[in-house]
Amino acid sequence: MLGGDSWQAALKAAVRDPDELCRRLDLPESFAVEARRAAAAFPVFAPQAYIDRMRRGDPFDPLLRQVLPVEAEMETPPGFATDPVGDGAARLLPGLLQKYDRRVLWVATGACAVHCRYCFRRHYPYEESPRSPDEWQGAIDRLAGDSSIDEVIWSGGDPLTLVDERLADLAERLATVPHLRRLRIHTRLPIVLPQRVTPELLRWLRGTRLVPYMVIHANHPHELAGSALDAIGRLRDAGVTLLNQSVLLRGVNDSLDVLVELSLRLVDHGVLPYYLHQLDRVAGAAHFEVPEETGRALAAGLRERLPGYATPRYVVERAGAASKTVLA
Ligand SMILES: *Cc1c(COP(=O)(O)O)cnc(C)c1O
Ligand code: SF4
Repeated sequence: MLGGDSWQAALKAAVRDPDELCRRLDLPESFAVEARRAAAAFPVFAPQAYIDRMRRGDPFDPLLRQVLPVEAEMETPPGFATDPVGDGAARLLPGLLQKYDRRVLWVATGACAVHCRYCFRRHYPYEESPRSPDEWQGAIDRLAGDSSIDEVIWSGGDPLTLVDERLADLAERLATVPHLRRLRIHTRLPIVLPQRVTPELLRWLRGTRLVPYMVIHANHPHELAGSALDAIGRLRDAGVTLLNQSVLLRGVNDSLDVLVELSLRLVDHGVLPYYLHQLDRVAGAAHFEVPEETGRALAAGLRERLPGYATPRYVVERAGAASKTVLA
């Protein structure tokens, strides 16, 4: 079969059915019943490469918790909303957001290679993002006309769900804007679909004039295993500076030992822990919230137990603020 091991084939074969997810992990039927109900608003999506790192038969596995719909998602306590971070107000053009100096966020696609149950973009109007190279040109023209911007951040969705041909073309067009200096890619794919780190991806990352940064997104040390570590190694070899951001999640990584282990695994593989995010208060994710006081204590514990470069900043996104707000 042609391309049987390609990343596109793996993405296509990702689990989208709550029953199938529970079956592959030998979970009791009751979890599947609950997951089926809770998946209605935001479907299940998990590639096998990620499922492979979950423990069979453990409904509380920290990786499974990130993708398994649960009843609690159907509750929206006061203070939780569909656009908690004010993305709507920061829109320059469809798919182009600016909240902070120098940096624009480019939402090139709404597609992801995993559906994270805590995602703050689960209600984002992705239909609006530019789809074709011609529509993209409008955004590039806008950037070309504003010399205060020197960094483009590809976000999403997950930008690496787009094929390399499109990404290489877009990077090339961005590189024609003289004041743009850095290209930052926020992506979960090296973690959840490591086969996405292809020779083609590495080739255009090596070739672009823009200085490439990649912010991967691992929340738990178990995610940093096997082929994900190989993918990280290939990206480093290509000269990409790697950073990690995590979200502080109840039942996943709200323990000092887990966070220490996560940071150590990252720095041992050449990835700097960048941010530990307080959960954005998005409707459907309230059950993941860890109180800020607990988060501050965890962040203080990390500082005591790790080198400075291995300690992420604990931050929260506040609508209207001029930067992320540092909590500790
Ligand atoms: C988080 C974010 C950025 C990047 O902020 P850094 O502190 O540079 O990582 C840029 N734009 C938007 C809209 C963001 O939400
Ligand atoms: S945007 Fe990021 S956090 Fe949200 S579902 Fe996609 S990969 Fe997960």
